[in-house]
Amino acid sequence: MEHSLYVYNTLSRKKEQFIPLNEPNAGLYVCGPTVYGDAHLGHARPAITFDILFRWLKNLGYKVRYVRNITDVGHLEHDADDGEDKIAKKARLEQVEPMEIAQYYTIRYQKSMELLNVLPPSIEPHASGHIPEQIDFVKKIVDAGFAYESNGSVYFDVEKYNTKFNYGKLSGRNIEEILENTRNLDGQSEKRKSVDFALWKKAAPEHIMHWNSPWSDGFPGWHLECSAMGTKYLGETFDIHGGGMDLVFPHHECEIAQSSAALGHESVRYWMHNNMITINGQKMGKSLGNFITLDEFFTGKHSLICQRYSPMTIRFFILQAHYRSTVDFSNEALVASQKGLERLVEAYERLQKISASDQTSVKISDLRHRCEQAMNDDLNTPVVISHLFDAAKAINTVYDGNGKISEKDLDELKSVFQLYLFDVLGLKTEQENSKTLDAYKKAIDLLLNMRLDAKRNKNWELSDKIRDELSACGFIIKDTKEGFEWSI
Ligand code: ZN
Repeated sequence: MEHSLYVYNTLSRKKEQFIPLNEPNAGLYVCGPTVYGDAHLGHARPAITFDILFRWLKNLGYKVRYVRNITDVGHLEHDADDGEDKIAKKARLEQVEPMEIAQYYTIRYQKSMELLNVLPPSIEPHASGHIPEQIDFVKKIVDAGFAYESNGSVYFDVEKYNTKFNYGKLSGRNIEEILENTRNLDGQSEKRKSVDFALWKKAAPEHIMHWNSPWSDGFPGWHLECSAMGTKYLGETFDIHGGGMDLVFPHHECEIAQSSAALGHESVRYWMHNNMITINGQKMGKSLGNFITLDEFFTGKHSLICQRYSPMTIRFFILQAHYRSTVDFSNEALVASQKGLERLVEAYERLQKISASDQTSVKISDLRHRCEQAMNDDLNTPVVISHLFDAAKAINTVYDGNGKISEKDLDELKSVFQLYLFDVLGLKTEQENSKTLDAYKKAIDLLLNMRLDAKRNKNWELSDKIRDELSACGFIIKDTKEGFEWSI
């Protein structure tokens, strides 16, 4: 394929040219949400980041299979090994079946993603729907000698694995250091070393979600589902695995270990990670009370926010930073994003009203090339946005009568603006609202025309009924010589 897309690979710690395994196909796996609560700003960032990658790969001509999982079992309160299952806990507190919790929050997550104009992935597999695949994966690791059974649970033997492979290569952690800094377990735990992690956990009697396995009635460890489902849908080796930087260790480090142990080689060729969002300079955390859900942003109902922010404002705000930079949320920053987006949309609308001249006096000729270069440079969306702002200036100059643009350049400008603002960055104007508004105006006109017909036919009963009921809805109707006028 004729392009030079470079992406930053967390594993090699440098930008690498993206060359997929089986052109024109490209495989993308992204860790999705654990569905036990409403999606917040921290969920929006990976979803939007990898939506941009998905859109850009398709724009380059790839046939992309995008897998984003739903974690509905095995994510314990303290990573893979300790504490109650997050979904089971919520189910216990609300006295419902765990799958009701998973279903409820999955639908709400998908709805929020739709509002953010995040395209649905090609496959959205649930961990609970892939228990046999996960059991098979554990068997392979056990057979290869990199896992041990202990009291019905199965643990990954990190120290042994490290004699053949390199545990810590993704996160840059040194295993000796990890071993030194971790507790000595002295046989008090099922695990031999605290660095070992669970592949399969025997379910305690009070644990609601459990399945039969060769080792015990239990449930899979959290890291396992992504190895099993990634392999199932994208193959033993696939192109890109993405997620938030907070997942690098232990989640993705453990995924690499599991795949290498089971398959004898790594699965993922490019690891990509988005950076985190802070709120007023602070990390997000339940205990800090600054977990603002997406719904709270959309409705403006949270003590830390001063107005409602549309989903497109949130999307634009996230895209104004490079995905590997941190983003700090503040009301000032979001209001600035809202205004910035309005400026671009206004320029787009003005662009449709501009008429062409015989020549061009504004500079737009290399706009397409510059946007393409920025996207190919590790998805540099803030640079694309700055190019669009430059183009908006040129549009305003022509719109105000201080510049000219030829028909050919006008067509090019329309095409580039449309491509980058809507298709690549995935922003939307309020066009859908105005479509609704149009339809509703037409419906009122239709009713009032029916009333005119009724009057002509001396059907006073129907004519009065239409007028009275519209008035009751708050419409003011005036009869005129030409027919009618109405307002609210
Ligand atoms: Zn994952």
